[in-house]
Amino acid sequence: MTINDIHTKIEHYKVKGFLADNEAEALFYLASKACLLGSCLEVGSYCGKSSVYIGEACKSQGGVLYALDHHRGSEEHQLGEEYHDSDLYDLECNAFDSFPSFRATLKVFRLEHAVIPVVSASEVVAKHWSAPLGMVFIDGGHSPEMSMKDCMNWSKHIVPGGIMAIHDIFERPEDGGQGPYLALNAVVASGDFKWLEKVGSLGILTRC
Ligand code: MG
Repeated sequence: MTINDIHTKIEHYKVKGFLADNEAEALFYLASKACLLGSCLEVGSYCGKSSVYIGEACKSQGGVLYALDHHRGSEEHQLGEEYHDSDLYDLECNAFDSFPSFRATLKVFRLEHAVIPVVSASEVVAKHWSAPLGMVFIDGGHSPEMSMKDCMNWSKHIVPGGIMAIHDIFERPEDGGQGPYLALNAVVASGDFKWLEKVGSLGILTRC
């Protein structure tokens, strides 16, 4: 699938998500190369928009994406919060649940053999993880604590030349929450990663 075919299909199926087209495109092209170095992993899949772009890149190269999300939503997705979506609320369980929507996305894009859902908390999975990763995309909890934990826990699994991409990077507090930006700076300060570029609010680093 070309990038334009993916954009069109995403729009047709109204896949929910907060990823801009240029950011999605960057993830697609980065993953096409990085998946040759190791598996890809994303934290925060939601309804699968980013999973489609990274997953399609992996599929075309015979790679694989681990799509990690507890699917219970971040703070801002909960009932009564700014980004709550009542379509994603399971009334029977009385809980937010983006997993059915995520699975539906994988099915229409036929990505079930390229994207492996991991339904759990990022921290729990990171603690037991051992496979080297070619690329990590971080878009999970955006609080300073959660962002920092995700960046620190997952950056150590990235191979040299591999990619770490972090969503929602805002240099100025008036533009957005500072959690992801502070976490990105901490990863750079570790000395193991260097800045590649920024596309929209996507901060892109590579492992030295
Ligand atoms: Mg985001």
